[in-house]
Amino acid sequence: MSPVACTSARIPTPISSETNLKKMKTDSKCITDYPLTTYPEDSSPIALKWGASTSEERGPVACSWNAGGLQKHNAIGAHAGGYCIYHALAVGSNQLDKDHKADYTNAQPAFNIKQNESWFNDKDVVSMDPLGHLTPTLFNEVSEKEDIEIRPSIAVTKATLKLAELKEAVAAGRLEVDGNIVTNKDGDAAVSKVAVEPVWYLPGVAERFGITEDQLRKALFEDTNGMYPELVTRPDIKVFLPPIGGATVYIFGDTSKIGDGVTPLALRVHDECNGSDVFGSDICTCRPYLIFGIEEAVKEAQNGGVGMVVYFRKEGRSLGEVTKYLVYNARKRGGDTADEYFHRTECIAGVRDMRFQQLMPDVLKWLGIKKIDRMLSMSNMKYDAIVEQGIDIIERVPIPDEMIPEDSRVEIDAKINSGYFTTGTVKDAGELKTVHGRTWKGFE
Ligand SMILES: [Zn+2]
Repeated sequence: MSPVACTSARIPTPISSETNLKKMKTDSKCITDYPLTTYPEDSSPIALKWGASTSEERGPVACSWNAGGLQKHNAIGAHAGGYCIYHALAVGSNQLDKDHKADYTNAQPAFNIKQNESWFNDKDVVSMDPLGHLTPTLFNEVSEKEDIEIRPSIAVTKATLKLAELKEAVAAGRLEVDGNIVTNKDGDAAVSKVAVEPVWYLPGVAERFGITEDQLRKALFEDTNGMYPELVTRPDIKVFLPPIGGATVYIFGDTSKIGDGVTPLALRVHDECNGSDVFGSDICTCRPYLIFGIEEAVKEAQNGGVGMVVYFRKEGRSLGEVTKYLVYNARKRGGDTADEYFHRTECIAGVRDMRFQQLMPDVLKWLGIKKIDRMLSMSNMKYDAIVEQGIDIIERVPIPDEMIPEDSRVEIDAKINSGYFTTGTVKDAGELKTVHGRTWKGFE
């Protein structure tokens, strides 16, 4: 059966799924190969009780359609965020057997994540699977018995960071070589890493946003142009794997001390800005603040604490790079001043920010963090979200002035005026008019 031939496969209208299926089976040959998951009577999901007190009672997030898996789904969507589409391309172009079952030999976590209370209630962690790194061991039996692949949504590993700025920091005497965390004069830093894919428990996500589960389901269904019909036809399925990026946790120091309530923690929560983080664009403070965060996290670890940077794939305030560049153009052509900074984004995107930090603290709670000694962030949105979730923040640390690129003053001054934390001065509306960005030299 060629998947390409199945364009006539369609979702039945909500009259009677049985009648519709019968009709569709006669209408279209290929539909017989697709047990649609749109109606409860056509599927038998594997039991999943989010927040249950044991992993047996909780059950796995089952969302792979090899063998008879499609009817056994207990989550809407597909694994690996947006990369699910590449998986589909690999299968569709016959480069990957759709029934391929992963062999997870030796892929288990490189260090232990302490089990926390937050894993076993339905309030603390609602946007990632708290058991996502343990699925191959916890749910192997279910996987064999049900003949369905149960995939991990979290992976835990170790690595070395090699950054030009850390080498400079060693040369300038800001960082010491200790042989353990900073391993040599090139500034190489030993790091433990955790990659997390998004797994949403819909009632919990709705609660964080102060809306009903129905409102959330409707918004997700409508705004994705009906991509996920089960959101509205399967209220019995409570988990959604959204096609978005996840997060990576970079940990410096002794991972066994995380969340022990004693060891000091320095934390930067950083939202992706590819243009600056990777390519060094000077229009914003992203890479300088990321580097500052890494350097401070390393220092905290060297002082006996733990340092952490959590990197979220929320490019351009979750508006994406296309919108971001359109805003840059509008700013540069309109006379780039700090008083107009947010307005330009609002003109194009309708809002100034779509990062919505409400779900961000989940990864911290998953790690058992109850207090942050040094929060390496000026964002009031991140601060409020963390504190609202019951995590204390002792000290807030702004980026040092000398690390702010000249062209990014527009951004940082506008943000400070709108509520970002600073130990310096807050410019008023009049003063913001005098903070100019660059125009394109010789570009127009
Ligand atoms: Zn940036």
